[in-house]
Amino acid sequence: MININCEMMSWPEYQQHIEQGAAVFLPVGAHEQHGPHLPMATDAIFSQRICERVALPLGGIVLPVQRYGYKSQARSGGGQTFCGTVSLDGATLTNTVLDILRELARHGVKQCVIVNGHVENQWFLIEAIELVQRELAALNQSMKVIRAEYWDFTPEGVYEQIFAGDFPGVDLEHAALIETSMMLYLHPELVRQGLIPNDPLAQFPPYDVYPQNGRGVPKSGVLAPAADASAEKGELLVNSICNSMIEGLRADLDKKASV
Ligand SMILES: [Zn+2]
Repeated sequence: MININCEMMSWPEYQQHIEQGAAVFLPVGAHEQHGPHLPMATDAIFSQRICERVALPLGGIVLPVQRYGYKSQARSGGGQTFCGTVSLDGATLTNTVLDILRELARHGVKQCVIVNGHVENQWFLIEAIELVQRELAALNQSMKVIRAEYWDFTPEGVYEQIFAGDFPGVDLEHAALIETSMMLYLHPELVRQGLIPNDPLAQFPPYDVYPQNGRGVPKSGVLAPAADASAEKGELLVNSICNSMIEGLRADLDKKASV
């Protein structure tokens, strides 16, 4: 097995990859409740595993996963009312990722891919990327940064196949059929099989109220039915997402790095 995890490399091994033009992947997740049946690291685990599968055929390497994300919101993750969820302020997440990007630029990295596994992180990642681009431009330097939410790579037709026409949307799929299926495929030992809930679809008004009060969020923290999850559905999701991400990124990354 080729070692593509930066944290297990020595610095000269890492430097060799960078000198060869390797794309550096940064998985970003969250430490967030994912129902009674999935680990709180679910988003971090998915972004890391997807990065590994995608980086390998593209000649890329993978940084340690950013394990903490932006605050959970009721309509996409159940919100901040659950015991266990540990979230960052937006500025903290932006500054953490900005610091990482500055270091990559200092190493001479020319292309970086941020793979996000937690809906609420999106704009804070974008801000970090925008800020590093402004800094580098002022120094006449450049580093291409690609940001991707893994679920956007799900090929057309896969949701229809899995949900038989009843797909509730990515936000409401928190800890539900998609994430449970993916975990059953990637890490079945981490799924508490007897505890998979089957709550009805959460109902929310089209606005948010603060302070967060958990209104409309099922007690389980799972926003859509999960009982039909299976390892087969997870395999279809993970493989089709990774394949279309590999194909998409191959077109945008410097060809020298591809193997
Ligand atoms: Zn999740």
